[in-house]
Amino acid sequence: MAKMCDVCGNEIPKRKGYELKDGLVCENCGLKFGLTGNYRSYLVANLLTLAQVTDFITQKTVITPKEYWKNHKNDDKLIQKENDAEEKAEYDKIKADFKENKTAKFGKIYFNSKTRKIFIDQSLVNLLYKTVYHVYDYNEFAGYQTTETPTTITKKHGVSRSIVGGLVAGTAGAVIGAATGGKSYDAVSKLSITLTFTDNHTSEVVFINQPTKTDSLIYKSAQRELKDFCYMLENIQNDNQKDTTVTGSSNTNDLRELKQLLDDGILTEEEFTAKKKQILGI
Ligand SMILES: [Zn+2]
Repeated sequence: MAKMCDVCGNEIPKRKGYELKDGLVCENCGLKFGLTGNYRSYLVANLLTLAQVTDFITQKTVITPKEYWKNHKNDDKLIQKENDAEEKAEYDKIKADFKENKTAKFGKIYFNSKTRKIFIDQSLVNLLYKTVYHVYDYNEFAGYQTTETPTTITKKHGVSRSIVGGLVAGTAGAVIGAATGGKSYDAVSKLSITLTFTDNHTSEVVFINQPTKTDSLIYKSAQRELKDFCYMLENIQNDNQKDTTVTGSSNTNDLRELKQLLDDGILTEEEFTAKKKQILGI
């Protein structure tokens, strides 16, 4: 299919014309604002938008591709840099606000019960590439799931004793070692909670991520934190459910409006009764 010049509408022969950011320009139109068909003309065209080119032509501006390239080749990068800086500034502001006004914080998730907002901070890995964070309303919280992965921890003292025993008492020591060192303890390798939001985004807060004995202080404090977290999430969920019940009571408002329509003579008595029954579900 033949390509057309976006400025003059003429057909552009194969492998001719200049490709703009958002369009095509024929060689004739290119010539009007200084593109001469050399290598740099094509590079410069890539930097330009159709709007810019149209301006050049209507205002009879003639550019020098070499000069233009020198001055504008980094424009896109500069714009990107500015955008990144703006994004970063916005992120910093949001984070500072949540840090100051948080009701609770678990892992990288901040809660503000006053504004009913949740802030999920970016991970450090993402920081290198792009600002990645999420802000949700409490009522965008859809649910949570806890994960506790059981594992076993071999008693280390027992193992070393079995070696000593083995050296001294031969096979008998190894048997003792099997009995004492082989004993396992109740432990977990992972304790975490995963939050799901209404847009299906999930966020996991990990409390334990290496084998930890269930009778250890670390485990007990992690359990306590997990419980607090669940309690908080349950409260949010309950509130969200209350919110939906409140919309149920807007039935009353609907009925009032309906009565008004009846009083204004817009609805007949029959229509009003039918609609009323429908709203009240009777
Ligand atoms: Zn043209």
